[in-house]
Amino acid sequence: MSLTFDVQRRPDPASDARRAEILANPGFGVHFTDHMASATWTKDDGWHDARIHPYGPITLMPSAAVLHYAQEVFEGLKAYRHEDGSVWAFRPEANAERMQRSARRLALPELPTDDFLASLRALVEVDEPWVPAAGTGETSLYLRPFLYASEAFLGVRPANEVTYSVIASPAGAYFPRGLKPVTLWISEHYARAGAGGTGAAKTGGNYASSLAGQLEGIENGCDQAVFLDSATHTYIEELGGMNLFLVTDDHRLVTPELTGTILEGVTRSSILELAKGLGLEPEERRVEIEEWKDGVRDGSITEVFACGTAAVVTPVGELRWEGGSAPSTAGDEGGEVTRSIRSALLDVQYGRAEDAHGWLTRL
Ligand code: PMP
Repeated sequence: MSLTFDVQRRPDPASDARRAEILANPGFGVHFTDHMASATWTKDDGWHDARIHPYGPITLMPSAAVLHYAQEVFEGLKAYRHEDGSVWAFRPEANAERMQRSARRLALPELPTDDFLASLRALVEVDEPWVPAAGTGETSLYLRPFLYASEAFLGVRPANEVTYSVIASPAGAYFPRGLKPVTLWISEHYARAGAGGTGAAKTGGNYASSLAGQLEGIENGCDQAVFLDSATHTYIEELGGMNLFLVTDDHRLVTPELTGTILEGVTRSSILELAKGLGLEPEERRVEIEEWKDGVRDGSITEVFACGTAAVVTPVGELRWEGGSAPSTAGDEGGEVTRSIRSALLDVQYGRAEDAHGWLTRL
């Protein structure tokens, strides 16, 4: 039986003036809407107690398993306002299915796709005024579903009580400097994931383990770190929160194949589907970091970009590592292919182009 989210409205929502002030300059991940969605799973009763309730602090026992053993997964997707006022999500079923795969890897219960969609719909319905207006640039309502072991128990085993929640945050551009290319640092000492580990799951531990490499990159004047395979330090995997693509001079669109240590991005798979229509040959395979270094030097790689829900498509500029660097191919605001892929995605998301792939779901 699917879940029905009972609504408990907040008695003191943000005033219209306060909300307008936030929406005028939302930033990313700093402001949250008035409500959140939650549901509980127990081993005995399955999913139940689905509700929309005021956004606010949650109560957890200090012994809650998630705080000790990180049994947790999450998702990230956006709700977009179209010109006619309607609100849409981009491939939310793909996020539901990825959360199910992540949950299986972390020994958490799966939330059925219908319930995932129902939670988004119920939350966006009560917090609809928080979805930024159409025509306000790249603004959206970022949705963050998450699932964690809330059972108060210190034994190491899958929790018998799990909480699912969704919070929502109005979002402007992820990188406030716009299309300015990001400089990447090759993380040679730190990997984010290893074979047989949790790299393909969207689980907090991967992000925690990416931070030291990210920090090293920042200390070396870079914006982000690029992680390599942990076994040989030879092949490109991804960034801490985005997948990577290389564009070649013979119109191939190359991205690291899914080896089990890379997150399967919804943006990544959408770009692979768009490629042919843009005159590009998609190619998923292992990509050596040396191929990138050599390719930007000899001109066989013409563009590099990163992609993900938050930043859509971001041009990648210079690549740096300990004792060396490879030049940028991105100019001031990314190459032609990068920009055309970015526009193609944004035009579908904001309802400015035909949704030929059936990617949009009305919330
Ligand atoms: N890789 C990692 C590690 C990520 O966290 C994300 C963001 N979810 C991505 C890639 C891009 O995924 P998506 O396109 O689904 O946002």
